[in-house]
Amino acid sequence: MPSRARKSLLTVTNSQATTGLLQNEVRYVKGVGPKRAALLANMGIRTVRDLLLHLPRDYEDRRRPRPLAGVRAGEKAVISGRISTVTFRPTRSRARGILEVRVEDATGALELVWFNASPGWQRSFPDGETITAYGAVAFYGGLQMVSPDYEIGAMPAESEKFGRILPLYPLTEGLSQGVMRKVMRAALEQSASGAVDALPRSFCRERRLPELAHALWSVHFPSSTEQARAARRRLCYDELFVFQTALALRRMTARKAPGIAFRVGPNVDTRIRRLFPFAFTNAQNRVIKEVAADMRAHHPMNRLLQGDVGCGKTVVALYAMLAALAESSKGYQAALMAPTEILAEQHYLTLQSLLEKARVRTALLTSGAQPEERRRHLKRLAKGEVDLVVGTHALIQQDVELRNLALVVVDEQHRFGVRQRLALREKGLPPDVLIMTATPIPRTLALAYFADMDVSVIDEMPPGRKPVTTELCLPQDRPKAFEAAREELRAGRNVFVVYPLVEENRELDVTSAKEGYEQLSRSIFPEYACCLLHGQMPQRAKREVMEGFRDGRYQVMAATTVVEVGIDVPRATVIIIQHAERLGLAQLHQLRGRVGRGEHAGKCFLLADPSSEEARRRLQVLTQTTDGFKIAEEDLRLRGPGQLFGTEQSGMPEFKCYDFSDRSVLQEARDDAFSLVKADAALKQPEHALLRRRVLDEYGKDLILADVG
Ligand code: ADP
Ligand code: MG
Repeated sequence: MPSRARKSLLTVTNSQATTGLLQNEVRYVKGVGPKRAALLANMGIRTVRDLLLHLPRDYEDRRRPRPLAGVRAGEKAVISGRISTVTFRPTRSRARGILEVRVEDATGALELVWFNASPGWQRSFPDGETITAYGAVAFYGGLQMVSPDYEIGAMPAESEKFGRILPLYPLTEGLSQGVMRKVMRAALEQSASGAVDALPRSFCRERRLPELAHALWSVHFPSSTEQARAARRRLCYDELFVFQTALALRRMTARKAPGIAFRVGPNVDTRIRRLFPFAFTNAQNRVIKEVAADMRAHHPMNRLLQGDVGCGKTVVALYAMLAALAESSKGYQAALMAPTEILAEQHYLTLQSLLEKARVRTALLTSGAQPEERRRHLKRLAKGEVDLVVGTHALIQQDVELRNLALVVVDEQHRFGVRQRLALREKGLPPDVLIMTATPIPRTLALAYFADMDVSVIDEMPPGRKPVTTELCLPQDRPKAFEAAREELRAGRNVFVVYPLVEENRELDVTSAKEGYEQLSRSIFPEYACCLLHGQMPQRAKREVMEGFRDGRYQVMAATTVVEVGIDVPRATVIIIQHAERLGLAQLHQLRGRVGRGEHAGKCFLLADPSSEEARRRLQVLTQTTDGFKIAEEDLRLRGPGQLFGTEQSGMPEFKCYDFSDRSVLQEARDDAFSLVKADAALKQPEHALLRRRVLDEYGKDLILADVG
């Protein structure tokens, strides 16, 4: 887990007197020694704060016993009754035995059973005594509870185990619920009152949010279900509110910053459109309007452009870049940053063919270039002799000095990340930034993570595009997929076969790309030219393979998921994805976008051996829809946001409490944060002091909020 995730809540002021408690290492909690501290660390719990934010995954309601006639097999229940019979049946060795304790109340009877009881234990269950127990009810000749939690005596008003709602925690091996509860209680007693509430008092009152210390207690040990719910909501609100405040501040600062006001008028528009051999789609036109308005404005553009693979985002980006360069007397420069070298080259090729008729001086920066050539490019860039530069993210950020950078287009494809918040401030004015992503971002996620940006969506494909048909193939249907591929190969088209791993891995029963390549070239398609592509190959080899595949020297490509990143090969019509159950839906959706980009329709075969019905249904989603947003929503629901972005690399906070199931708390936190920042843009009011500290502590660095400080 990234360290960022752990600092999400309750990071408080530098006043040691109040915060020391929560920042303390968890081993200072009563009942936690080095051994338990190590177990807790396995779950990412290192400080008291981490511990207190380790929220129950569920609760057991043990408040009231149920009449025995009312309990049913399959549920969990508290029961209380008189012990009527106790039997112990020793095993053959006599070391252990089965203990059965029959319990009766006025309405019925039930048997408590322990299968591995030691002899003599039956004496702790005196006939006629009252016993209270909690467990899962089963039916086995009669009602049974196996190895229940119990106490001798009538149902107590409240004890450690009964008469209350008990939390159920996510655990790790070696830790029991009982230990976790004890430790949590101790931590709350020692520290909850030391948690500093950064929410302005008035907010809590108006929103009827419980105070922080109270919320911490009642999320772990609630006295009612409603109380638990309110407490959890408060903790979610808290973490969302702080992040949204950071985003609001960022947006506010960006809005106030001076930027370039480009002149994008009708003349420029006509000149640019003339370069393209097609008319833009309605969606493209709409987005171009939004982008052009941003560019004309006096503050820097900060826009996110989403749209499925192939919907024509790059075309919009090109438009923006050409618009930025249009006023040639200004000497503005534009940069296009791609996530991989292959993509950078591809973008460069597209751009060159389009710009044949335009007087735009371009350069491609790759790490594969000769040092000599590279130096020459860098010099030209610094002198302002290049208008438009293309390279990878790393390359452009590292060592390029641009004379007059005015617009940056960041192509994130699906590896969407923190880069959208890069500090691209050279000597001049901050440039306009346009970020493209092919990961459809569900609305909740967009609201949670990108509230500081403007968002445009292209939701329409260029005309004539045929949707890719997708089939789920279980192991017995595999030959069908390869037959279909063979047919396409006979018609002169290309085939991708994708594997989740590069190399063989002894621990996983998964065919790797290298093994797959061997199989394809030796036995499956020996009559066709096969090639192998994976991310660890040297740049030159990758390029040779890509070019060969594009112009048809190779017909079959065994590849890892590197091909997911935007490779454009019009002659490829079939993609076979091995071990599809190992990949996220959004990723699979990206992969199938690699085919059907030419005049012929594409086919995608998901080869999978899903271990459960749930896994099968998950993959089935892809056969039913090509709507990227629907697919992303499903991925979010099933696997959380990490799957969509890889939050770890992306630098986005992984929320500890908020799980995206409740939209209303997110909307509320967002609206509150934005109106607070609108009223007090520097968080200077005394009642915002704690909030300000927390925002800067937690997000100041990642979101470059320096100017706010
Ligand atoms: P994206 O960047 O969203 O993946 P591209 O901009 O690369 O999509 O466009 C995909 C393909 O569709 C390219 O070959 C491009 O030339 C073509 N294309 C884009 N817009 C149109 C359009 N309006 N009409 C016809 N073809 C288009
Ligand atoms: Mg593209």
